[in-house]
Amino acid sequence: MLMSDSRIDRRGFLKLVARGVPSLVGLGAAFQIEPLASAGAPSWLRGVANAETAQGATPPGATHIIDTHAHLQARGPHHRQSDFGGAAAKALEGMDREGISRTIIMPPPFGPDSPGKYDFEDFSGAIGEYTSRLSYLGGGGTLNPMLHEAVRAETVEATLERNFEARAREIVAGGALGFGEMSCEHLSFNPRHPYTSAPPDHPLMLRLAEIAAQLGVPIDLHMEAVRADMPTPPRFLERSPNNPPTLKANVDGFRALLASNRKASIIWSHAGWDNTGDRTVMLCEDLLSSNPNLYMSLKIDSVSLPVNRPVTAEGVAKPGWLALVSRFADRFLIGSDNFYDAPGISLRDLPRAADVLNFVRQLPADAQTKIATENPLRLYRSLNA
Ligand SMILES: [Zn+2]
Repeated sequence: MLMSDSRIDRRGFLKLVARGVPSLVGLGAAFQIEPLASAGAPSWLRGVANAETAQGATPPGATHIIDTHAHLQARGPHHRQSDFGGAAAKALEGMDREGISRTIIMPPPFGPDSPGKYDFEDFSGAIGEYTSRLSYLGGGGTLNPMLHEAVRAETVEATLERNFEARAREIVAGGALGFGEMSCEHLSFNPRHPYTSAPPDHPLMLRLAEIAAQLGVPIDLHMEAVRADMPTPPRFLERSPNNPPTLKANVDGFRALLASNRKASIIWSHAGWDNTGDRTVMLCEDLLSSNPNLYMSLKIDSVSLPVNRPVTAEGVAKPGWLALVSRFADRFLIGSDNFYDAPGISLRDLPRAADVLNFVRQLPADAQTKIATENPLRLYRSLNA
């Protein structure tokens, strides 16, 4: 894949970050802070013409907002039946509200023991009638539990490896645009929420990267950044007994995964949503500079550490993040991590898209178009079909 459009080179970038100055204007970018979106108003992106989205039509040459990371919440603790159709209808309503033309839905990253595991086959039928608006990834409910089963066993049984590979191929044959959501460091936020951790260069992850490269599809990976082994932040020990006392270093393993196959595109999801303190602008810059096959999807949510969030409490984009995302405008995506709850379920309904769109709207216009439209179309080739 292409290196970034380096209108802002590394030295200029570092200078901007050090000065903390939003002086992208001086570099020719159409930089302008717009007022925050008022609640309920569609948040069209400047430079992104998507007025047809409500009808689902795609006029030639039109560009659209594509959200590359969201989930359907089809069941609550008191609901025996999964209502993926209802959740998909709610997704369309939410997308219309935010001006999102297409969303890539995926099963969350389940652990081997997670109750209610599901994968794309469980919801692909329900979204079948909305294929112009909804696409999907697969593996969160099957490949990811296999990965973590192998981690627990401290070995990769030949049968498991064969099943893993067969399943990966079946997922793409089944219409999934790629693999997700996988997890290499996933904190548990409540006792019902899984903790999962795997070295990013685990043999099954390396195998998945090979398969992804072969099939030309990306991997969407959830991984809290951990530069060196560290005690688990106390607030996570309080939140859930599933979290272990320490978190293992994973950044070097991640570099090894990225280097293992440069044809494998890896989307490190949830940039801007850091819970360890390590996913800084500088770490993102370092990894993006040295790994042309690395992409990141942006997520903004109030539970993460404010210091590494792209916006202030008032929603104003921070200079370091503006500089980072502008410099690597070819490598960022929107990945709201919205959970669309089926009617009658109010479990996870997390309207996160507005916050990430508010950040993107503060970027130069050409960067907005790349992030909202061009990058996902390039990365997910079958979206163009
Ligand atoms: Zn995630």
